[in-house]
Amino acid sequence: MFAEPSAKTADLLQRMRDFFDRYIYPNEARHHEEMAAFRRAGNPWQLSPLIEELKPIAREAGLWNMFLPHEHRGVPGISNLDYAPLCELMGRVSWSGQVFNCSAPDTGNMETIERYGTEAQKDEWLEPLLAGRIRSGFLMTEPAVASSDATNIQCSIVRDGDHYLINGRKWFSSGAGSPDCKIYIVMGKTDPDAPRHAQQSMVLVPRDTAGVKVVRHLSVFGYDDAPHGHMEVLLENVRVPVSNMLLGEGRGFEIAQGRLGPGRIHHCMRSIGAAERALEMMVDRLQARIAFGKPLAAQSVWHERIAESRCMIDQARLLTLNAAWKMDTVGNKEARAEIAMIKVVAPNMSCKVVDWAIQAHGAAGVSQDFWLAEAYAHQRTVRIVDGPDEVHRNAIAKLELAKRR
Ligand SMILES: Cc1cc2nc3c(=O)[nH]c(=O)nc-3n(C[C@H](O)[C@H](O)[C@H](O)COP(=O)(O)OP(=O)(O)OC[C@H]3O[C@@H](n4cnc5c(N)ncnc54)[C@H](O)[C@@H]3O)c2cc1C
Repeated sequence: MFAEPSAKTADLLQRMRDFFDRYIYPNEARHHEEMAAFRRAGNPWQLSPLIEELKPIAREAGLWNMFLPHEHRGVPGISNLDYAPLCELMGRVSWSGQVFNCSAPDTGNMETIERYGTEAQKDEWLEPLLAGRIRSGFLMTEPAVASSDATNIQCSIVRDGDHYLINGRKWFSSGAGSPDCKIYIVMGKTDPDAPRHAQQSMVLVPRDTAGVKVVRHLSVFGYDDAPHGHMEVLLENVRVPVSNMLLGEGRGFEIAQGRLGPGRIHHCMRSIGAAERALEMMVDRLQARIAFGKPLAAQSVWHERIAESRCMIDQARLLTLNAAWKMDTVGNKEARAEIAMIKVVAPNMSCKVVDWAIQAHGAAGVSQDFWLAEAYAHQRTVRIVDGPDEVHRNAIAKLELAKRR
């Protein structure tokens, strides 16, 4: 492949693979059992004992905070291209990112505070996030409006002396179910009369502020994704100091643009990891099961699907690496076409490959005994989160049309 990992990434990747073999794969069942026990006891919104146990081991091993694109107060930076294979590996087990302090939405939130926060905001919120002591939420989407068009966001942020008064209802706020989720980045309107893209702002809202209420969790194909969760959050007369504003009033879109590029590519990298694992499982199952006198793998329809999966995964990976390289070399804005393309290609590819792997497993594929049903539920959401397919296709088409105008 033309984009071989750098020496730094190759070393990190080998150490991460060893960590997965020693601590992640052997503990998948334990994680499920621990969360199931919490559910049976009536409260799954508790810290995962396994993840808390593994975090210090990962940190000690130097496998910690590997996502920041440049150095910050001693945390070494890593380019998007270098991060790609590491993030891909984390896509193989949905909760593994938390072990390395590299999970969404924290990575996007930390990067946002690092890029746009004041030194005081960094001291108060970025440091404990980088240390893995707390987690964070990103509250943009609202139940009342089509939130794929972020200009629709209605949450109001009104200046009142030295404070902002915030009122709004958010949902699908990922991570807000976790008891260590202590800070939200909230998007809302500071000036409804300003030009369309200058109405919105982003403000830091501590979870324990009066008026913040986590109303309920939203399931994903029946999964609660506890303890992380996707929550509905009501903000009722919430007051925060004006110093909690990020970058400045009316600059929410500017931050969203900067934040969503890396967030999107991380989703795609993880989707490739999920597809790769699904293909391995598909191949193993097809070779192990005998039907009509021969292994399922001997049926030509499965040759077609295996070959197609390999082609699709490698195509998506190369496109993703290209987008990562462009982000590193010309910036997120200039790489917007490439980011939009992978955001369409990677999750559609992973949905297809995981779907074939489910089919290869028969009934077992949709059950809790295999990772595939959970993987499909998650991969299907990636076609919606951070902009649905159609919005990204529109963006790509507009750029193509403009070239020939
Ligand atoms: C598991 C999960 C986690 C999430 N986590 C977060 C989070 O942490 N924070 C957060 O703020 N949000 C989060 N979201 C919300 C997600 O970002 C939104 O669902 C997404 O932006 C779409 O907004 P919407 O649901 O309001 O859909 P709508 O805007 O109502 O759109 C509905 C559908 O309309 C179609 N559509 C939209 N625009 C166009 C167009 N221009 N052309 C053609 N068709 C179009 C698309 O098919 C789209 O799916 C999460 C969602 C899920 C499922």
